[in-house]
Amino acid sequence: MATIRFEQVSKRFDKVAAVDNVSFEVNEGEFMVLVGPSGCGKSTLLRMIAGLEDITEGKLYLDGKLANDLPPKDRDIAIVFQNYALYPHMTAYENLAFGLKIRGLSKSDIHEKVMEAARILEIEPLLERKPKAMSGGQRQRVAIGRAIVRQPKVFLFDEPLSNLDAKLRGQMRLEIARLHKQLKTTVVYVTHDQVEAMTLGDRIAVVNKGKIQQIDTPQRLYDEPKNRFVAGFIGSPPMNFIEGKIEQTPAGLVFSDPTRQLIVPLPERPEFSTQIGQPLTFGIRPEHLHTHPAKGEKHYAALSVEVQLLERLGYESFAFARLGEQQVVARFSPEENVVSGEKISLFAETGKASFFAQ
Ligand code: ATP
Repeated sequence: MATIRFEQVSKRFDKVAAVDNVSFEVNEGEFMVLVGPSGCGKSTLLRMIAGLEDITEGKLYLDGKLANDLPPKDRDIAIVFQNYALYPHMTAYENLAFGLKIRGLSKSDIHEKVMEAARILEIEPLLERKPKAMSGGQRQRVAIGRAIVRQPKVFLFDEPLSNLDAKLRGQMRLEIARLHKQLKTTVVYVTHDQVEAMTLGDRIAVVNKGKIQQIDTPQRLYDEPKNRFVAGFIGSPPMNFIEGKIEQTPAGLVFSDPTRQLIVPLPERPEFSTQIGQPLTFGIRPEHLHTHPAKGEKHYAALSVEVQLLERLGYESFAFARLGEQQVVARFSPEENVVSGEKISLFAETGKASFFAQ
């Protein structure tokens, strides 16, 4: 078991700041997911933990000890990559055994560890096969097995499932979750897939442009995104953003959109009173827009929209509609029967909205 702590860590490649003054901690036994768009710096963060990348500035602590200059081999960390990195001329058994062999373990110790990892991952029938005779999912399981046999203090995963098809990705996701429950080892897992992030992470760090935007539990990230980037990145389809401005009314400060259908009292935040007349974004999730006011919901606004398209997925539907010049998407149950071109009212649960200054 181990803890990981970044203290004001930056990494520059020439002039590019891949990681920019990042501080956060991964607790013992925690499953931490780093998620963000391509090039945001998540792999660089992971590689710094493994010691595969120098740290330009700041401090990295492993188990409370400064580790900036600790050689990778002394970190007791195993890393699983996207491209498996198995030895093609070796069987699965030999691939699992290789790292233990060069560490000088006895044949019987190696056998015990390999068989234990194979049992956990249910790959016993594959042990005599070479990688080319395995499916992508099987190869990835062997790659994970190679990390497990070492019984490291920390597992690092760098987009381990992105080469697999959707079905297999779902299966492997469950296996990784099960594995973590069983082994309780600290994990840092990099992905750009928000479903993986939401389903696997005890906590998720959302990264953009080398900076951590928010670290929270999956549900809090979804319910209380700190900024527009996080709100737009977590959730599919993403949160609707309706542009408008802050207005002073006799009843207090409100958000109003250009069609003046959406006039919503603003929550108490000191910054709003200094920004009267300034642009503000109203954010609402697709599931908080309904064809009727939600039961028991006191705060809602009715919006006249024109439906452009209804996308039916069987278990739910998405209605894409226009509110003035802006587009919104609503998540409906499959029973809802709206048609393209129809003008309808959408009821927004304004109590569940987020507001973002620009
Ligand atoms: P992806 O999801 O595409 O793998 P990422 O979020 O993991 O992206 P990083 O690989 O950490 O992003 O890269 C962050 C930034 O640093 C990018 O702008 C990238 O081009 C740059 N970068 C990464 N490695 C190097 C390097 N060895 N030399 C120069 N620039 C680099």
